[in-house]
Amino acid sequence: MSWIENRFEEGVIVTSLDWAINWGRSNSVWPMTFGLACCAIEMMAVGASRFDIDRFGAGAFRATPRQSDLMIVAGTVTYKMASRLKRLYNQMAEPKYVMAMGACTIGGGPYFKHGYHVVKGVDLVVPVDIYIPGCPPRPEALLEGLMRLQDKIRHQTRAKSVMTKAKEMALA
Ligand code: SF4
Repeated sequence: MSWIENRFEEGVIVTSLDWAINWGRSNSVWPMTFGLACCAIEMMAVGASRFDIDRFGAGAFRATPRQSDLMIVAGTVTYKMASRLKRLYNQMAEPKYVMAMGACTIGGGPYFKHGYHVVKGVDLVVPVDIYIPGCPPRPEALLEGLMRLQDKIRHQTRAKSVMTKAKEMALA
């Protein structure tokens, strides 16, 4: 935007609508209260005072998918749970994001070989934006994942949101 630089008095901000919307969205991500196994303990830890996810504006864990825009899949996803997980995802508000937390969620983890009941990657069920490896990942890793998600949101444009929707429909 160099052609408009220095053309206004101090105190006037010129920006794009995308930038302003993304700024608001990235600093007020509302995760859903949703944990599946041991990784969820680490997720709970980020809400406590030592790690304090509220510093990133993401501490308002909601008890309903309709008020959430982030699903942190924290734990082992079984085939029995997968359909529930998909239903909760479908009920979330747009635009919505998914973080796959831990080895189990990303690819089956320790159950990969013999866990006949475990989904080998939650991205087979819902589209995943951020992967956080580890068994379990530490709370700092989850915060790092959140910061990467914020970066992703800040670079979104309206056109990219439409493409995300198309990707999602292809998975359905
Ligand atoms: S990745 Fe490890 S800590 Fe996380 S749910 Fe699986 S077994 Fe538990």
